[in-house]
Amino acid sequence: MSRRTAGALPAGPSERPPSQSEPALPDTTASSCELASLFLCPVCFDYVLPPILQCGRGHLVCGNCRQQLTSCPICQGPLGSVRNLAMEKLANSVLFPCQYAPAGCGITLPPVEKADHEGLCEFRPYSCPCPGVSCQWQGSLEAVMPHLLQQHAYLKAIQGEKTVFLAMDINVSGAFDWAMMQSCFGFHFMVVLQKQENDNGEQQFCAIVQLIGTPQQAENFTYRLELNGHKRRLTWEATPPSIREGIVTTIMKSNCLVFDTSLAQLCAGNGNLGIIVTIAKR
Ligand SMILES: [Zn+2]
Ligand SMILES: [Zn+2]
Ligand SMILES: [Zn+2]
Ligand SMILES: [Zn+2]
Repeated sequence: MSRRTAGALPAGPSERPPSQSEPALPDTTASSCELASLFLCPVCFDYVLPPILQCGRGHLVCGNCRQQLTSCPICQGPLGSVRNLAMEKLANSVLFPCQYAPAGCGITLPPVEKADHEGLCEFRPYSCPCPGVSCQWQGSLEAVMPHLLQQHAYLKAIQGEKTVFLAMDINVSGAFDWAMMQSCFGFHFMVVLQKQENDNGEQQFCAIVQLIGTPQQAENFTYRLELNGHKRRLTWEATPPSIREGIVTTIMKSNCLVFDTSLAQLCAGNGNLGIIVTIAKR
């Protein structure tokens, strides 16, 4: 960004009278982009969006930076808490680029729609799909597998469409996760068994296969989980969600195989539970 407009407030949004001779034309996008640059935070270069607060001399910083500052980064004066209503009004009439524009998103939106879009933007980074560990890693889809192999090397990786996922010692107390990676059809899948308390305080198991790929790619697959006990069989078949959705959301929606501890006991041998995992193409 070459244009530093830090500290400069526009001299009030002047209402431009509609041009009389020419029809209103495409220029609007360019001017929206230029207007958006007036809202660049001088500290982080993100946008300063409503509510917009200014220092005693009229300088603006974004809400995030504001929380970490004790004085105005431009004039070193007190940050103050005076709202700039004119800038807020102006901001609401400007289209701002999505924060993932550098990653390829071409969408521009008014401030009120920006956060919602960014929460769902297909260009936003992927989070680490490894369950149970509080790994803060984020990156592109292509970088997910290298990350898993380097940082979560303990995860077992199995090749093949049909495998047995063996969860050892399922009677372990408290919440616990078992995970492995399965690779077939040129894709990688994350197989997870999670033991946790449900809303009624009862221990339950959730088993799921997620595609390390986009939601669209996930539509091309189905997976089947099979629990076998003495003369019993429980089968679950579904489309694997993409890791985009996140394991917490997926389990919250019960979009997985859910079973209780007594069923797990019926199918386990020596406290270990084998789940037959079959992945197929649609
Ligand atoms: Zn900032
Ligand atoms: Zn200032
Ligand atoms: Zn976007
Ligand atoms: Zn990770």
